[in-house]
Amino acid sequence: MNSYDEFLAGNRHDDIVLFLSEHVVDEHSAIRNRALSVETGCVLTISGTRAQQIVEAAIGMGPMAFAKKAMGTRVHVDRELKDAACPSGRTDHETEFILAFSEAENQAVGGLYAQGPVIHAYTQCSCGALAADKWVADAPTETGVQPGSSVPVEEK
Ligand SMILES: [Zn+2]
Repeated sequence: MNSYDEFLAGNRHDDIVLFLSEHVVDEHSAIRNRALSVETGCVLTISGTRAQQIVEAAIGMGPMAFAKKAMGTRVHVDRELKDAACPSGRTDHETEFILAFSEAENQAVGGLYAQGPVIHAYTQCSCGALAADKWVADAPTETGVQPGSSVPVEEK
């Protein structure tokens, strides 16, 4: 299992995963060289201490600032962090980047967090719209926003 698969399984809480689309990554050859290529662009698993600097260089702001801006709107984010929906509902838009981190299971917090490790994902569309999704790593199709929806399963 590589670090990206481990992250998706909810086993790397100190890391951040960054997805950059084909168009965005073209400007960042240093990232492309170290990232895993996927159909829509590339994904990079970054250890926490280096995340701030690398994310800032790639998307123009730090991970927490981006998460804060994006968290107010929900969309479906692909569970492998390779794509996301646009909050406008348009399907001809392209996801420019996705940033994700995870949190350990936490019975005290309850809700999703009582079910297992939670993946938090934040996305920016080519139109500039920001949005977020979160789901239980072990239950990707039963938690969070599902394809075609804008409301998380647990809030329906
Ligand atoms: Zn869009």
